[in-house]
Amino acid sequence: MKAKKVVEIKTPRFIRLRNELRSLLRLCMEDKVSLLRSESARWRKINNLELSRKLRQEIENLHSDFRRSICVCGFCGSIDKNMVFNPNNEHWLCIGCDLHLKEISALGSKIPLKLPQIETFLIDLSRKLDVSKKGSNCDGTFSYSRFILREMGVEKENLNNFLKLCQNYGGYCDCEILFNAKDQLLKQQI
Ligand SMILES: [Zn+2]
Ligand SMILES: [Zn+2]
Repeated sequence: MKAKKVVEIKTPRFIRLRNELRSLLRLCMEDKVSLLRSESARWRKINNLELSRKLRQEIENLHSDFRRSICVCGFCGSIDKNMVFNPNNEHWLCIGCDLHLKEISALGSKIPLKLPQIETFLIDLSRKLDVSKKGSNCDGTFSYSRFILREMGVEKENLNNFLKLCQNYGGYCDCEILFNAKDQLLKQQI
């Protein structure tokens, strides 16, 4: 595993300067994006869809280049923090998010839920939620998940850690576990 690179500025004056430069770069990017956007709309109006699509692609590239640069944390989006570069996924993260994600991935190995149990849990959850109605039974909490996990004999601490892991994958309630976190959960090497 390659080492992470930390770029840390501690002097307040330089921190201010760096933040201003980052804001400036973002403003330039946004300016360019709004120009491209109106140009793309103009071409669409006169039915040159190919050119309009090309311009939209350019906008997407600008956004993605900016997101991947040292100016912005790839996780929380802040632009005023010291950043860490992770050579394994080639992303810059602020130091806080880097730590947070490290904790979360360590969490994965602490959860004594085996893959077949996770599968059982997900199947049960989709039955209870009646996902054919797009999670209409979900009340925005983890009430079904908690119920199912308790029935499966998962203890409180493990249960809470498992739900934290779900949140890390974008599952902030019962239905979101199925819509957002499911694939990642099934990939967990637990
Ligand atoms: Zn961050
Ligand atoms: Zn929900």
